[in-house]
Amino acid sequence: MDVSVIIKWNGQEFPILCLGAEDTIGELKVVVQKATGVLPQRQRLLGLKYKGKVAEDDVKLGLLKLKPNMKVMMMGSREESLEEVLAPPPQDDDVINDFDIEEEVIEVEKREENLAKIARRVKDYRVEMLHAPRPGKKLLVLDIDYTLFDHRSCAESGHELMRPFLHEFLTAAYIHYDIVIWSATSMKWIETKMKEIGVTTNPNYKVTFMLDSAAMITVFTAKYGIVEVKPLGVIWGKFPDFYSSSNSIMVDDIRRNFLMNPQNGLKIKPFMKAHLNRDKDRELLKISQYLDDIASLPDLTVLNHKYWERYSCKNEED
Ligand code: MG
Repeated sequence: MDVSVIIKWNGQEFPILCLGAEDTIGELKVVVQKATGVLPQRQRLLGLKYKGKVAEDDVKLGLLKLKPNMKVMMMGSREESLEEVLAPPPQDDDVINDFDIEEEVIEVEKREENLAKIARRVKDYRVEMLHAPRPGKKLLVLDIDYTLFDHRSCAESGHELMRPFLHEFLTAAYIHYDIVIWSATSMKWIETKMKEIGVTTNPNYKVTFMLDSAAMITVFTAKYGIVEVKPLGVIWGKFPDFYSSSNSIMVDDIRRNFLMNPQNGLKIKPFMKAHLNRDKDRELLKISQYLDDIASLPDLTVLNHKYWERYSCKNEED
């Protein structure tokens, strides 16, 4: 069962979709934060009662008897300055708070409620195709913020903040991989940024499609509470004839985005302080070589991308 509510806050309405009966109030608050910028602990959602009392964060939405598109008033204020509100959601904290996922992954990626959330995204999330998937190609999923672009530094134009060798990287990758962009922000922001730095208009490669935060899911981890992740299962479920765990690789500066598919994730060093690092950063060149080296493997699940930097040397020795 899907849950949809409209959050009324600050004279505006924010439709919240993509949640299900088994999601909790806590998870709703995380999604509301994405839409409004108000931190979960600052949100007071009026009228969401359970057993006659204000529903606590661990109460499941299915227990609340919500009508579809029910309007919920929210009290609470955003703490950021106006400048920060206009910028994409900050991820700096994420970089610092990113954790090693090893110990929990097995449990999280197999948990039924998480698989149900992926199934719901497969069913409800609308992918706008930019170009058709190409038979026989592998899948490369790329994060934007701090992976391809330093979204926090100031500059006259996006080009100054673009990671060095971005277009060379994408041109080379396109030979063997369909390129997908996935950012934990809004599609509007993604489209604007990608256009600004010329990714969606470059004649040397094509982007197959782009995904935004609505394609992500929240998962509960015993150690870190509720976190948002990018489950590749959404793409595999939508394009079963083209992509699977054996031909997909995902590059992101935040390891926990891989929680639902740890084997497919390659964690890249975050690209920050663009003005300082523009002449030094060679990450995309190095990963480009790795992607090229592994492209001929029939099954990428034999790899441990944690050791990607050693792969080429090791193979030369062999
Ligand atoms: Mg990022």
